[in-house]
Amino acid sequence: MTFIKERQMYNPSSPYAKEFIDHEEIMESLQEAEKESRNPERVAAILEKAALLKGLTHREAAILMDCDDPALEEKIYALAANIKQRFYGNRIVLFAPLYLSNYCVNGCVYCPYHYKNKTIPRRKLSQEEIAAEVRALIRTGHKRLAVEAVHQDHLFSERRRQFHPPREREYCRNGR
Ligand code: SF4
Repeated sequence: MTFIKERQMYNPSSPYAKEFIDHEEIMESLQEAEKESRNPERVAAILEKAALLKGLTHREAAILMDCDDPALEEKIYALAANIKQRFYGNRIVLFAPLYLSNYCVNGCVYCPYHYKNKTIPRRKLSQEEIAAEVRALIRTGHKRLAVEAVHQDHLFSERRRQFHPPREREYCRNGR
């Protein structure tokens, strides 16, 4: 009997890790970046799109990151500096990470939350604890939060269901 591995449908906007972390998509993106980063017309077209401030796809971003032509690199840096200046001016913008839980199925060696670390307590914040953390961060002057849910699909989906969008938007407005 022959087993054919069916390729997962790649969906970058999916809330489920298994749909947006796709090995084949990563490898194809890297291969395309290696080839297309040497194509000045393609790089110029991506820079034109980037200048519209509507965002790039991961494949387009990978092409720019792989580009090592000095003249094109100059253009990439100049446009990046221009966009940064238009968005943020001379400010440095910091985000305060807010971890909703520290259970994780991954093994990033630089991170203490990796699944092999048996020496830390594992926690999942309740809605009340999340609200208290956000208020404490706002009180200490933070204006932007990076919400981290670590990588465990069922916890992440559960959190998404529990979130109250109007309240989140209120936090966002307060943080602008
Ligand atoms: S919390 Fe993030 S960085 Fe840390 S092990 Fe998990 S996936 Fe890696």
